[in-house]
Amino acid sequence: MTDTSFLQRLTEKVGPGAIFTAPHDIAPWLSDWRGLYAGHAQAVVRPASTVEVAACVSLCAEARVPIVPRGGNTGLCGGATPDASSANVVLSLDRMHAIRNIDIIGNTLVAEAGCILGNLRRAVADEHRLLPLSLAAEDSCQLGGNLSTNAGGVNVVRYGMTRELVLGIEAVLPNGEVFNGLRTLRKDNTGYDLKQLLIGAEGTLGIITAAALRLLPRNDVRVVVLAAVESAPRALDLFKLVFEQCGHRMQAFEFFTAECVDLVLAQSDGVRAPFPMRHASYVLVELADTVDETALRALTEDVIGTALERGLCADAAVSESIAQLNSMWKLREEISEAQRADGTHVKHDVSLPVASIPAFLVSAGERIRKYHPAIRPIVFGHFGDGNLHYNLSRPFGAPDDYFAQHGEALTAEVLDEVARYGGSISAEHGIGQLKRDYFSQYKDPLEIRLMREVKQLFDPRGIMNPGKIF
Ligand SMILES: Cc1cc2nc3c(=O)[nH]c(=O)nc-3n(C[C@H](O)[C@H](O)[C@H](O)COP(=O)(O)OP(=O)(O)OC[C@H]3O[C@@H](n4cnc5c(N)ncnc54)[C@H](O)[C@@H]3O)c2cc1C
Repeated sequence: MTDTSFLQRLTEKVGPGAIFTAPHDIAPWLSDWRGLYAGHAQAVVRPASTVEVAACVSLCAEARVPIVPRGGNTGLCGGATPDASSANVVLSLDRMHAIRNIDIIGNTLVAEAGCILGNLRRAVADEHRLLPLSLAAEDSCQLGGNLSTNAGGVNVVRYGMTRELVLGIEAVLPNGEVFNGLRTLRKDNTGYDLKQLLIGAEGTLGIITAAALRLLPRNDVRVVVLAAVESAPRALDLFKLVFEQCGHRMQAFEFFTAECVDLVLAQSDGVRAPFPMRHASYVLVELADTVDETALRALTEDVIGTALERGLCADAAVSESIAQLNSMWKLREEISEAQRADGTHVKHDVSLPVASIPAFLVSAGERIRKYHPAIRPIVFGHFGDGNLHYNLSRPFGAPDDYFAQHGEALTAEVLDEVARYGGSISAEHGIGQLKRDYFSQYKDPLEIRLMREVKQLFDPRGIMNPGKIF
């Protein structure tokens, strides 16, 4: 039920232009990007400063009103969508989009949580620096959302996940206190690293208002190799070879199967078959360096020559121009969209020890075929990070609601197999609402207990993004 005096006081904290309460105004803030969830809220509030965020949170804490932090709403697990309670307040960071500092000596960026990731990448590029966090949603997602989901993306094999780029955080805790951890120090061994608790917490421990990140030199020299590999073990051998010969220059090592390419060719415009013959699977490797394109190209051709000689790949093409590089990437980037256009499917964003990927692909495939021989695994992902999108499309001719009946059983088949190899049921998308049950099923009970204790310590009233993760 809406409490008018609470709403009045909330309005005073941000001003009348920064709060929505009418149902048609708040409607766009109540659902998720994938259209899986829709919730309720009494208000959407859009503070413009850390002080305003703290004032809103203090008031919500006092009134025990649940808060749902909201970034760009590109999260894939329903983490930024309120639950069914009409008491919720959605707190959007979209008005906090200032870049506070770019330091080209210390190589750091300090920016507010509502900054769009793509804008940050462009701003530091203008200063000849690289913010390596890069994902397909970068022109919509926000820095606060990236930290809160510990986002991955395509360059993790070289630069690590978001948490490896973060030097400091400013956040408002669930009682309204401001956590002033916005340091840019590289070295700071003074007790527990508390900011790491807020990274990947999906808004359950507080609201991130700003962050300090590491910057790297710009890698303007890029070469992409598209290689046809006849099996996952060959892909693994190729990964080992490229790592040994190219070292840190390897900034993406992606894998996708022939079925992915078939889907893209059938569903997407402007994409051509990569080789004259269809191959069992493909690897896309991107190498990048700061200078000397000739040397990078020579190194790439040398490595691919060795790979062809050793039979690690059956065919390979090296990009000759940026246009070619982009069209090679397009083949990989179009897979999700092509699978969506093909109809209903289930997604599994899992990770495994890299060396276990070939064995996992065999045994998971056997389990799926045993369940139903005509289910179509559409497998692609960040092979070099051990991260597979092990998605399943329905058998040809099966009804659209096939997964309403079979989705859960099939997910259990996949996740049980992931667990058997010591993998994770969520590599980079988090838990949110979507994977809560799997989280409680597959995560170690001791770890869940400790997490609950941390949650209790930070948020004893349980107001911060309730119903997410736990
Ligand atoms: C096309 C597409 C491609 C994608 N590719 C990738 C990929 O390659 N790798 C990857 O990891 N993810 C990927 N994602 C998922 C998504 O983009 C990331 O999870 C992203 O980091 C979410 O940021 P956001 O600002 O949209 O957060 P939101 O969706 O708004 O929120 C995500 C979670 O963070 C919380 N939150 C948001 N802002 C704050 C804040 N300031 N303080 C505290 N909590 C907050 C929310 O409550 C929610 O729990 C992709 C998504 C799409 C749609």
